[in-house]
Amino acid sequence: MLCFFPGHFSCAPMLQKRIDDLELTSPEMMREAEQILHRHLKRVGLKHTGQRDTILRTFLETRGHLSTDELARLVKKKDPRIGFTTVYRTLKLLAECGLASEVAFHDGVARYEHQYNRRSHHHMVCTRCGSSVEFFSPEVGKLEQEIGRKHHYLTTRHTFQIYGLCDSCRKNPPLGQ
Ligand SMILES: [Zn+2]
Ligand SMILES: [Zn+2]
Repeated sequence: MLCFFPGHFSCAPMLQKRIDDLELTSPEMMREAEQILHRHLKRVGLKHTGQRDTILRTFLETRGHLSTDELARLVKKKDPRIGFTTVYRTLKLLAECGLASEVAFHDGVARYEHQYNRRSHHHMVCTRCGSSVEFFSPEVGKLEQEIGRKHHYLTTRHTFQIYGLCDSCRKNPPLGQ
């Protein structure tokens, strides 16, 4: 892909800014996440396989917002036998048991990020280059609670996303404008 914005973060393959409280690298955390997946597989009547574990581990080692394609490429480096379909299905399973969540940016590509051991956060997305920033806002969480209380709902989650133009895109308008 051609990069029109030298130095722009989003031009590096699949790197979208994200912030984390904790690095997910400890073997204990990996094991715990594996247990969550194994329990879920059992619940839905699927076997736990080495391939699914490899996919989970690869996913947890990332810190980005990954499309299925991007994750499949990373997984292939570890085990070339694991195909796209297996990665696709496993990501769905991870989302079902809360280890992953889908993030929708402006470009229509489904991306996933891991939710294990993470604080709730939101995204701000550049509608031109697709770069994103994560931010924490306790106020949004409070608003969810307040509105829930007001209408007698027990709220469980919300979505909130900001769209705009990032700094580089503002400074570098596309040719012809
Ligand atoms: Zn941008
Ligand atoms: Zn995120």
